[in-house]
Amino acid sequence: MIREFCLGASIALLIFLTMMGQNVIPLLLLAGLGFMLYMLIDRKGLTGSANFAGYTQQVNFSFDDIGGQAPAKQELKEALDFVLHAGKIKEMGIRPLKGILLTGPPGTGKTLLAKAAASYTHSAFLATSGSEFIEVYAGVGAQRVRQLFKTARERAQKEKKDGAIIFVDEIDVLGSKRGSNTGHLEYDQTLNQLLVEMDGLKHDDKVRILVVGATNREDMLDPALTRPGRFDRIVRVDLPDKAARKSILEIHCRNKPLADDVSLEDIARESFGFSGAHLESLANEAAILALREKSPVIHQSHLKEAVDKVMMGEKIDRRPNDEERYRIAVHETGHALISEFLRKGSVSHLTVTTRGRALGYVRSVPEDDLYLYTKEYLEEQIQICLAGAAAESVVLDSQSTGANNDFQQAVKLARQIITAGLSSLGVICEEIIPKERYHQELQKIIKEQEEKVHQILHSSFETLKEIAELLMEQEYISGDELRDMIEQRRVIH
Ligand code: ATP
Repeated sequence: MIREFCLGASIALLIFLTMMGQNVIPLLLLAGLGFMLYMLIDRKGLTGSANFAGYTQQVNFSFDDIGGQAPAKQELKEALDFVLHAGKIKEMGIRPLKGILLTGPPGTGKTLLAKAAASYTHSAFLATSGSEFIEVYAGVGAQRVRQLFKTARERAQKEKKDGAIIFVDEIDVLGSKRGSNTGHLEYDQTLNQLLVEMDGLKHDDKVRILVVGATNREDMLDPALTRPGRFDRIVRVDLPDKAARKSILEIHCRNKPLADDVSLEDIARESFGFSGAHLESLANEAAILALREKSPVIHQSHLKEAVDKVMMGEKIDRRPNDEERYRIAVHETGHALISEFLRKGSVSHLTVTTRGRALGYVRSVPEDDLYLYTKEYLEEQIQICLAGAAAESVVLDSQSTGANNDFQQAVKLARQIITAGLSSLGVICEEIIPKERYHQELQKIIKEQEEKVHQILHSSFETLKEIAELLMEQEYISGDELRDMIEQRRVIH
């Protein structure tokens, strides 16, 4: 209302001055500048009227809607019981729980856990991100932190909730070690304000507030944040294991029509290393593929292709020339043959379809998630990595740049052998050992495995060529087809 009145009055004044013969151009320029500044201040919340209502979410989300993560859920629920039974906790003289920190890789369900925590404790839910607080203007972040806590209290009262949960994603941006952002006092002031607000939380507050922070860079956090009395509960949220992946897939396939041939157990096995977000995307992509094919239901083949898509990216129309395609086919066949030779049944399929940045690839079927690796296992992995380049040199008598990633991976595995004390150097201290000695050992490990691979591929030369030619023709060979061909030739078994 006031805004409209001021606008009308300004226009009337300008008309009056023009009629009086005054030059109004400087005034117009000044007004334009003032307007821009006003818009900027309004948007950034410099005035302190930053409105966090946009982040408030109505949540009706329970822990049952989160697949896997049993230890994280358990730990979180235990911590939340302190909030639910605040009266008893106070009688025992226990200080209130003010903050919980969720740490883990991206897409593992930290936001979902915070939402479920809000439902569990009958709290209003406010979500924001650390980066929302950081502006170039000194004091804005601190002001926003104050405003956030104020909004949380107001929101809880308005929604007639017992309390509020403030969820701060990427809290490392806001709560990184003070002084680490050189020349940027703004970060420190913002963090200080958050600490002040958290210190001010008490048992008998009318609205109890719990701050839930999430980060995948726990090491970056200021120790003041993780000290007892602030975020003193740290809950780890890890990548899901096979059983958890299956239950996440079940959740995301609940609203999708699945064909009878679908085995989520198999898809869970094939999606090793996927986060919950990847699995959600997998289920979604499978439905899109089914729709594209005008299939009324999602088949196992759609889910399998979706695994590839999520892992490697969208199929690309770019088609290498025939010579390059043959080289790619030989390369991938090399990987697949060695993989089958070392672990029968390990290849899910191989293809020369270009996806994302990969010109072709072999998908393997991990038997079970592994948490520990033996020296033999790591050496076998190195052999599989080196097999692509080795096949190129055995069949085509030359190598290409296509093996760059494979070599990097092989070096990483060899380093793992050395640092775990499994090499001929024994247990070493990486900082002290001469670089040259370290490098010699690394080369020795790789050379030994390379020789083994060359030997196997030379003795299966015909099989290698035959499969590579078929792969070039078909673009895709399933694991079973591959094993049949190997069996018929009986060369490497
Ligand atoms: P970031 O660290 O990137 O913020 P996050 O750990 O907070 O990620 P969420 O935002 O909770 O991850 O999850 C992203 C999406 O992934 C969810 O919306 C959901 O669809 C899916 N998801 C992740 N974990 C799970 C899970 N355990 N169960 C079901 N769905 C999950």
